[in-house]
Amino acid sequence: MTDALHQDVIDAYRVLHTGEPLDRETAFRLACLPGDAVLDLASLAHKVMLRYRDGSAAIHACSIMNVKSGECGENCRFCAQSRHNSAAIDVYDLAGEDAVLRQAAETLEQGVAHFGIVTSGYGYRKVTAEFRRILSMIDRLHHELPGLNVCASLGVLGEETAEALASHGIAHYNINIQVDPSRYGELIADTHSIDERIATVRLLRKHHVSVCCGGIIGVGESMHERIAMIFALAELDVAVIPLNVLVPIEGTTLEAAPATGLADIVRTFAICRLVHPRKIIKFAAGRETVMKDFQGLLMLSGANGFLTGGYLTTRGRDVAADRAFIGQLAQFSGGVS
Ligand code: SF4
Repeated sequence: MTDALHQDVIDAYRVLHTGEPLDRETAFRLACLPGDAVLDLASLAHKVMLRYRDGSAAIHACSIMNVKSGECGENCRFCAQSRHNSAAIDVYDLAGEDAVLRQAAETLEQGVAHFGIVTSGYGYRKVTAEFRRILSMIDRLHHELPGLNVCASLGVLGEETAEALASHGIAHYNINIQVDPSRYGELIADTHSIDERIATVRLLRKHHVSVCCGGIIGVGESMHERIAMIFALAELDVAVIPLNVLVPIEGTTLEAAPATGLADIVRTFAICRLVHPRKIIKFAAGRETVMKDFQGLLMLSGANGFLTGGYLTTRGRDVAADRAFIGQLAQFSGGVS
């Protein structure tokens, strides 16, 4: 029976005391932490989040809208929108501005101030007619909903599209590396390369666009590779790190992927916080659908944000339920409640 903190957790307390990111060697040791010490690690990650988060005390909630769905030529193994998979989803072309405006207004009314426009597909290397329509959508959202932070997730970009997005003022651009970059081709897709995605992150940073970039747990990666993914993010100067837990969708290559153990997911969230003490870490897909009863534990393992109100091709929990959830999480933030 363990009656004191595990030595590896004691070593990791250095992050709390100094604010310096966790080193690789300790991270790899924590990845093998015995199960009875995992809650001590989660507790440390939560304390680091509380001490080093940015000025706002709140949980960072955001909502997304899939403004173009399906018919994607890429072969991402987890994705219901790939033509290489056979999932039954709604397929539609770029939504009209009015529909996007309506959903964004509803999101804002519900108290969620970050709204992401998401399109299926490889991306936009050039400013096409469709890309211009997206820029116009962004302008309209800025104009009609000035309190809204407009984000975008449009896939791979080129110089001119990155520059255009920068000049149209988006809060964050989302593009995930998903896994350890050296394993992207085997675990995620081989119709495009991780280098194109990393180049997109660098282009956006060059144009001073804040980047939201993270990964997915449960696509066949090892614990060691999850840690490698977390350190790859540290080299990319990203502002927000979304962590997804695979939601296996019928008709996708990963429909029967074995579930990842809960303790490994907690280890991954906590280590991510210790490597990124000051970043926003968001629990994205899989929070309610896969983690169910344990989503609260994950939100107390270093995360300080989540995606609310539905995903690309699956429903989430409604925003009102998540607002109550935020209230409950606040009881663990130092005040008396
Ligand atoms: S994740 Fe994006 S690029 Fe990959 S198949 Fe789905 S829509 Fe296409």
